[in-house]
Amino acid sequence: MPYMPTELPAPNPTMDERPFWENCAKQRLTFQRCADCGHYRHPPTPVCGKCRSTRCEWGDAPEMGEVFTYTVVHHPSHEAVKPVLPYNIAVVAFPELNGVRLVSNVIDAGPDDMRVGMKVRLVWEEHTAGVFLPRFRRA
Ligand code: ZN
Repeated sequence: MPYMPTELPAPNPTMDERPFWENCAKQRLTFQRCADCGHYRHPPTPVCGKCRSTRCEWGDAPEMGEVFTYTVVHHPSHEAVKPVLPYNIAVVAFPELNGVRLVSNVIDAGPDDMRVGMKVRLVWEEHTAGVFLPRFRRA
């Protein structure tokens, strides 16, 4: 069973975000990387925040990241999440990719298990048919 209920809305990507989600559908976690200065960024944007270049490519994320920060949700923000309370929302950072960060969940960590700096490993969950979400387990 997925960490979050499948009744939650699926991603609805913008033009800039579409390659990210197309790669997720292939269970590839990728981040936008500036083709001129190499800076990684997320969420995807049309312009590099470092050098203002509009040229970009997509680079694979490593399997391991670390929890930059997190919260544990005790109050439902959507009717569908009531059965899974409390759940965590983690911001996972990838130090090798200039610290680019992804909002996700650590699916095998209870509320008291979460720690800033905790090493986590990428796993994939199928949200609905063909829609894969990058999630994490404790390393
Ligand atoms: Zn750049």
